[in-house]
Amino acid sequence: MKSGVEVLLKDGKYYLSDDILLSDLQLKSLEEHGDITPPNSAPPGPELKVHPVTGMPLSADAGKAVGQYPTSYNMWAMVRYVYGPSLSSVQREIMRLAIEHWEANSNVRFYNATGMPTVDPTYGFAYPYIEFVNGNDVNSSQIGRNANGGRQELKIQSASWAFPEVVGNGIHELGHAIGLDHEHNANDRDNFINLNLNNVLPEKRYNFNRRTTNYHQIGAVDFQSVMIYDSQAFASSPNLIVMTRKSDGSTFSGNDVTSGTDRKWVNNLYIPYIARSDVYRELADIVYKTDNTVMTAQERQQFQAQLNNGNPYPPAGGRIPNDHSRYQ
Ligand SMILES: [Zn+2]
Repeated sequence: MKSGVEVLLKDGKYYLSDDILLSDLQLKSLEEHGDITPPNSAPPGPELKVHPVTGMPLSADAGKAVGQYPTSYNMWAMVRYVYGPSLSSVQREIMRLAIEHWEANSNVRFYNATGMPTVDPTYGFAYPYIEFVNGNDVNSSQIGRNANGGRQELKIQSASWAFPEVVGNGIHELGHAIGLDHEHNANDRDNFINLNLNNVLPEKRYNFNRRTTNYHQIGAVDFQSVMIYDSQAFASSPNLIVMTRKSDGSTFSGNDVTSGTDRKWVNNLYIPYIARSDVYRELADIVYKTDNTVMTAQERQQFQAQLNNGNPYPPAGGRIPNDHSRYQ
């Protein structure tokens, strides 16, 4: 494109990297500015000090993972999703288990809106939501919430029942949907990874472009991250090595579950809400702090009060069902 950024056109859709689908707004911004976020909508680089929505201070050690620069336009309160009609029962199970992994280990929360209205009945705006669809041989997702609102797609491969790798795919794609990027695309990854692009076909090399603006990242590349690919990713023939650790030249594999630093990135930026029909912001029993430790009961209650104009007590009867195993 005219900005010089390489993207992949596949089946009428544009991808920034192998599995990162671009929204129309992101594509336009890439074309005009060379970045998926327009300039001045967010400061560049890792200087984020407070939460973009709550204004609360973030840990100086705010997750050694890399992701989009968070704003109130690209993050979720709860991640609204639907199971699409094209999914196989195995694909539904993959996504349900992937959601359970994130919810059991971090502050991010998902809301199952399968079969529910896609437009707010009172105000008429389109709810932002993810539809999980059958990707055939493809896994893909957008990064973060689509700033336009409305539907965005997450594709999940049709796969035989092979644990844990297939659930790892779901966890990885949900990682993109909540804002995480690939570790091997981090701006400073060359400090941690030896990259041999001679072993990658020219048309695949865009998968190793660095993310140079509008990212949020502190610290080193995390080799335990669910967002890193293995040493042979996109190798032009099976025995070739593309990436090794800079520290000792060793190879590494991908990961099927989140690392502590993946979770730190998320725990800094998400708040674990319980689905309610009213405006009260009720917290889940377990709330992670920015260092991945769990808030005490007292800390949790103080935080809940802070989120609700000083009132720590949720009104009775406001909770609504939110069952991740409801498929229609
Ligand atoms: Zn990915």
